[in-house]
Amino acid sequence: SLSIENLYKSYGNVEVLKGIDLEIEDGGFLVLVGPSGCGKSTLLNTIAGLEEITSGDIMIGGKSVAGLPPSKRDIAMVFQSYALYPNMTVAQNISFGMEVRKVEKSEREAAIKRVADMLQIGELLNRKPGQLSGGQRQRVAMGRALVRDPQVFFFDEPLSNLDAKLRVDMRTEIKRLHKRMGTTIVYVTHDQIEALTLASKIAVLKDGYLQQFGTPAEVYDDPINMFVADFMGSPS
Ligand code: ATP
Ligand code: MG
Repeated sequence: SLSIENLYKSYGNVEVLKGIDLEIEDGGFLVLVGPSGCGKSTLLNTIAGLEEITSGDIMIGGKSVAGLPPSKRDIAMVFQSYALYPNMTVAQNISFGMEVRKVEKSEREAAIKRVADMLQIGELLNRKPGQLSGGQRQRVAMGRALVRDPQVFFFDEPLSNLDAKLRVDMRTEIKRLHKRMGTTIVYVTHDQIEALTLASKIAVLKDGYLQQFGTPAEVYDDPINMFVADFMGSPS
């Protein structure tokens, strides 16, 4: 499981996360939602180890990872702004991490084919990132993370640059992928429909505070306050 205990994070004297407690079981799908600036990416980045925490603890598989660098946390990430290697083709971008880990060529090729089919980028494998649209780049970035097999996957608004149809397609693919792989996922979005369709648990944040933590049904049908009701579009 992944658990976050009384987590605080400040930048200078600005407190951005103010005592967050969360827990997600193995194979769970945790979605962090809330308005722009509420601290979603910061929370994700601290769990992933890209940002240091100010106090509190982060446990993955029962062990504190608070002091460990991202490379030691057994995680893979898809960022809000995705950085691809500009001089490599799409296939090389996806393959690179596997080459570093000395995965065999036949296995690498099979993995590339698998994610390319899933993400509908099979036609783009020989292009460079500069020859792709924003949404295509975003899918390549996702492909690069998906060929790994981490304990926890982190997604920070991975669908934000896609058109409406592709967004729905990809949402379905992510759901299917999660079912098949059984990996724990932590997923950031400010789209409540995305949250309600994907999550096993939803954490609603506002101004660095956790407002409510529960299943989609609990958060939607039984919002704890007006803010959550408004944000999730609960019927009144
Ligand atoms: P969005 O939906 O717009 O991506 P978010 O919920 O992901 O928003 P964060 O990026 O976590 O928000 O930012 C939370 C708060 O922390 C914001 O007020 C932001 O300005 C502030 N912040 C983020 N990074 C830094 C930083 N490196 N230094 C100082 N303040 C920061
Ligand atoms: Mg963000």
